[in-house]
Amino acid sequence: MNENIEVVVIGGGYAGVMAANRLTQRDDVTVTVINPRRTFVPRLRLHQLAGGTHDATVAYPEVLAEGVRLVADTVTRIDAPGRSVTLASGGTVGYDYLIYAAGSGSAEPSVPGASEFARPIATLEAAQQLRSALEAAPAAAPVVVVGGGPTGIETAAELAEQGRRVTLVCGGVLGPYLHPRARRTAARRLARLGVTVLDGPDTKVTAVARRAVRLGDGRELPSEVTVWTVGFGVPDLAARSGLTVDAVGRLITDETLTSVDDERILAAGDSAAPSDLPFRMSAYGAGCLGAHAADTILARIAGEPPAPIDLSFPAMCVSLGRRAAVFQLARKDDTARRLYVGGRAGAKLKEISCQFSVKHLVAEARRPGSHSWPKGDHRKQVLQAERGGAPSTVARAS
Ligand SMILES: Cc1cc2nc3c(=O)[nH]c(=O)nc-3n(C[C@H](O)[C@H](O)[C@H](O)COP(=O)(O)OP(=O)(O)OC[C@H]3O[C@@H](n4cnc5c(N)ncnc54)[C@H](O)[C@@H]3O)c2cc1C
Repeated sequence: MNENIEVVVIGGGYAGVMAANRLTQRDDVTVTVINPRRTFVPRLRLHQLAGGTHDATVAYPEVLAEGVRLVADTVTRIDAPGRSVTLASGGTVGYDYLIYAAGSGSAEPSVPGASEFARPIATLEAAQQLRSALEAAPAAAPVVVVGGGPTGIETAAELAEQGRRVTLVCGGVLGPYLHPRARRTAARRLARLGVTVLDGPDTKVTAVARRAVRLGDGRELPSEVTVWTVGFGVPDLAARSGLTVDAVGRLITDETLTSVDDERILAAGDSAAPSDLPFRMSAYGAGCLGAHAADTILARIAGEPPAPIDLSFPAMCVSLGRRAAVFQLARKDDTARRLYVGGRAGAKLKEISCQFSVKHLVAEARRPGSHSWPKGDHRKQVLQAERGGAPSTVARAS
């Protein structure tokens, strides 16, 4: 009889849940997901939570396969040589394999006053606090959203649609990822919603005060509620545990998603940096990486060589309130194409992709092993150009 194999997954987000569900293909594998909350957070709805159109939670039994154990706790340390993790509540959990899927949150702002007076939106708790702050503010009070990336655009549009007076400070280009045509469409929609967009190099925020935001060109904008959407950060758990991480703190793996330090540790989602060349942080990518991390473990258990990750991004979608969006089609190298779908059709596609990010998890819970995704050989080429070697044999860090 086979011995039971214990897999612990740190983080019950898109990557962790997908990995856990996929691992249920084998009866001799026991999976434990450790996550601070008892509810799954579809983070791509957090701007809706701030705007009051969604609560951005899903009950775990809806997305997690039966038989996967959920421990509501936070991992405070990974003991790689001892193959165990320490929990905030005390105690340890041992593993044969560990999947590090701790995701991302807001980056710590370096601008004076921002940590004190600006509100992040990148976690459930942060978005809930932002919602409360907005509810406490007068309806006509000025709101400044800092950051011209997808989260900033989505938040500004959502709040403006709820009747808020919003200024979006980009600190550079509006929607840098978008093709210029899609960017113009987004700018028009934001203007129609009443959002004042400040873009260009002079619009970098240099200081945040209790009721104002200062820009590089000296302008001072009144702001009752300031929302900070600039960049994502990752938990420092891997770094604190002595594992090799990239400059941001993502766990560095090879192309099979195995830690460069330890064959029993894998990483997936926003907190993973395969070959120190991480994929774009996204729910879509997280699900695919989660599935691939599970496949690597299943291959090792079966005594087969694990495959390198292969993944291409078909699109990026930015909502512009509830009635419009830009569904930007992408090339295999994840750069924007000329083609995009805007307006109501774009909003429909965006809603479908939000629903699918959860439906994929449900499908994998019901039929483990079923999740598949578009592949492309672009990554292989980039890695070969960067390293001059085959991606699956990327050298392990010392
Ligand atoms: C407002 C907003 C809009 C977005 N819109 C989109 C979009 O339209 N499309 C898209 O693809 N992506 C979008 N994203 C990004 C997307 O949400 C993330 O890329 C995705 O959630 C990453 O999934 P993940 O599984 O890696 O991590 P997460 O979803 O962050 O899950 C990680 C989990 O690990 C838990 N965790 C962390 N540390 C520990 C620990 N020490 N112990 C135990 N558990 C821990 C966290 O609490 C969390 O539950 C958006 C993000 C935001 C904030």
